[in-house]
Amino acid sequence: MSKEKIKALRGMNDILPSDSPKWQKLERTITSLMALYGFENIRTPIMEETKLFARGIGDVTDIVEKEMYSFSMKPNPTIDDMMTLRPEFTAGIVRAVIEHNLVYDRPQKLFSFGPVFRHERPQKGRYRQFHQLSVEALGFTGPDIDAELIALLNRLWQTLGLTDIRLELNSLGNIQERLAHRQVLIEYLEKYKDSLDEDGLRRMYTNPLRVLDTKNPTMQDMANAAPKLFDFLGTESRQHYDELCERLDQIGIPYTLNTRLVRGLDYYNLTVFEWVTDKLGAQGTVCGGGRYDGLVEMLGGKPTPAVGFGLGIERLLELMELNESSEKTVTCDIYVIHQGKQASLKAFEIGELCRSHGYHTQVHAGSTGFKSQFKRADNSGATLALILGDNEIETGTIGIKALRNSELNQQNIPQSELINQLKRML
Ligand code: ATP
Ligand code: MG
Repeated sequence: MSKEKIKALRGMNDILPSDSPKWQKLERTITSLMALYGFENIRTPIMEETKLFARGIGDVTDIVEKEMYSFSMKPNPTIDDMMTLRPEFTAGIVRAVIEHNLVYDRPQKLFSFGPVFRHERPQKGRYRQFHQLSVEALGFTGPDIDAELIALLNRLWQTLGLTDIRLELNSLGNIQERLAHRQVLIEYLEKYKDSLDEDGLRRMYTNPLRVLDTKNPTMQDMANAAPKLFDFLGTESRQHYDELCERLDQIGIPYTLNTRLVRGLDYYNLTVFEWVTDKLGAQGTVCGGGRYDGLVEMLGGKPTPAVGFGLGIERLLELMELNESSEKTVTCDIYVIHQGKQASLKAFEIGELCRSHGYHTQVHAGSTGFKSQFKRADNSGATLALILGDNEIETGTIGIKALRNSELNQQNIPQSELINQLKRML
C-alpha cells in the first residue's frame, strides 16, 4: 500500500484549533445580531439539483458558466440527473421557502451560515470552499427593508471595530428599463468591439451589462464611458433608490453611487450594493447583495419581492485580523496537575466538580513529572493550577497556584473548601 501523504483538496482549508476561536467569536456575534433584527435561521442541504442554480443564478454568469462543482451518480446523465454543491445560498433558500410554503401568510426574514463551493483559481481571499453568511428578506417591497439590511451590516462592522470598509450602491431598475438600456449598450459595445476581451465578446449579446463589470484594465475606459443603466431609470425606480438613500442619510451611513456595479448574479433588480475595502488587495469585496423581486416566481413560487446579501466570512476574518492586536482568547480557567495513583483518581473527580460549577477545566492526561505538567498548565492559558500529590491525598488538601499572577504564592487548602476558594479567585 502506498504511504503517500493525503492532503486536503486545493483551495479547501482546514480550520485548525488555533483559528477556531476567532470563527466561533464571529459566529456568536452574527447570531446575536440576527436576533437583534429578528432574522430566523434556516439550514438547507449543501447539494441541490443543478437546474436550481442554472435557473436561479443565470446561465451566463461566472458561477454557472465555470465555477460550479456538478456531478451525477448516473451513467450518461442528462441535465435532470445533475447535482451541484451550492455556490451560494439564495437559490436554495428560495427553493425551500417555495417548497414549504413559508411566505404563504407572512413575510420571512431568514439567515443561513455555512460553506459554499466554487471552482475558481485559489489565491488570497479566493478559495474553492469558503463560507458565507446569507441574509434574505422575502415578502417585503422595500426600500425600508433594503435600508435595514445595510444598517445591520453597518452595525456588524461597528461591533467588530472595522472602519476601512465602504458602501457602494447602484440601482438596476426594472426589466423594461434594463431592456431599453440593453439595446443602447449593445450598440455601444459593437462600436468598441476591438477593445473587448474574450469574455466581453461572449457576453456582448447574452449579458451585456456584465461586460461592464470587467476587471480587465484595458477595458476600463470603454466601461466607464458606456451608457449607464442608472440614467434609464424611470420615476418609480428612481424613487426607490432615493428613499433608500434618504434612510441611510437619516442614520448617517455614508455611501457612493457606483453606476458600474452590476453584481455577478443575474437575478437582481433595483437596489444592488457592495461593501468594499482597499485593505485586501484585489479580493476587496467583503459583502454583496441586492433586490431580487423576480426570483421566487422564476423558481416556481408566487410573485414575492425579496432582498438579501452574501457576506464572505474568510475575507471578513482577514480584514479583522489586520485590525486586531492578536490577543489570545483564554479558553481554560483551571489546569489540574497530579502525581500518583490516588491523586490521579482524585484529579479526575475534582475536574468533574469544577466543570459542574462552569469552570473550563483541563485535567492533565498521562503521568509525567510535576515540572513538565506545570509547563503544560502554563501553555494551556489557564488562570489557576490545582495540584494533587501523595501529600495532598494524605491530608485531604489541594494546592492552588495562580499562573498569571506571580505575587500570589501557592497555597494549600482543604479539598472541601475548593469551590468557595475558586469563586474568590476566578
Ligand atoms: P468576486 O467578484 O470577488 O468573485 P462574487 O461577486 O463572485 O465576488 P458573491 O457571489 O457576491 O461574490 O459572494 C458574496 C461574497 O462571498 C463576496 O463578496 C466575497 O466576500 C465572498 N466570495 C466570493 N467568492 C469567494 C471565494 N472564491 N473565496 C472566498 N470568498 C469569496
Ligand atoms: Mg466570483
